[in-house]
Amino acid sequence: MSIEEHAQAVQARIRAAERTAGRPEGSVTLVAATKVQTDDTIRAAIAAGITVCGENRVQEFTAHDAAGAYAGADVQFIGHLQKNKVKYLVGRVSLIQSVDSPALLEAISSRAEKLGVVQDILIEVNIGEEASKSGVRREEAAALLALADTLPGVRARGLMAIPPVSREPGGNRPFFAELYQLFVDIRGQMGHNNSDLDCLSMGMSGDFEDAIAEGATMVRVGTALFGPRPPMRQQG
Ligand SMILES: *Cc1c(COP(=O)(O)O)cnc(C)c1O
Repeated sequence: MSIEEHAQAVQARIRAAERTAGRPEGSVTLVAATKVQTDDTIRAAIAAGITVCGENRVQEFTAHDAAGAYAGADVQFIGHLQKNKVKYLVGRVSLIQSVDSPALLEAISSRAEKLGVVQDILIEVNIGEEASKSGVRREEAAALLALADTLPGVRARGLMAIPPVSREPGGNRPFFAELYQLFVDIRGQMGHNNSDLDCLSMGMSGDFEDAIAEGATMVRVGTALFGPRPPMRQQG
């Protein structure tokens, strides 16, 4: 299948999952996880109707950006981010999904202030409490969102999570349900300040329909669009 056929198939599955969940058509945004893809593949995906790309690595982002590969689409950052690389992203990506510490939040805000912009961010929650994964513990998410509220350079939009790799279909659904409940609770606690909190990023190729059933507003899909990736090591 071509990228165009894959993209159409994934979009059709998202629309069907929205219907099944009784959610409005178009309420879930597809973010194409473009790690390890080439400039040409990214261009082909955008030509096939992809409107949002999600990058994991600062170096890949800056290279694709310099090549103009993202023309016609939005870019977000979805990978682990180190404080010293914040300057390459702030004001250049529409959303940083992977904020997982007060220090990183403050670094993003001060860079944004310097540029005179406000950077949209999500707080990444380590919902499966895995030592190998980044993200804050669920108990820490509200405090980080409250901190974001006090920083002029950032606007918090919600939560993101990467649950544990599931061995069986539907295995991650309880994690998605927990993250949704956390999102609802935090929105309740933030009261008058919650109107910007409209984004819940969860679900990948293997489980995005379950994530939509549990309330995802954004799914991040790589393999189902681009095919399997070569194995690679984790880095920031
Ligand atoms: C790679 C990646 C995805 C997409 O994973 P697939 O299983 O290939 O769909 C989603 N989110 C993040 C943060 C990723 O790094």
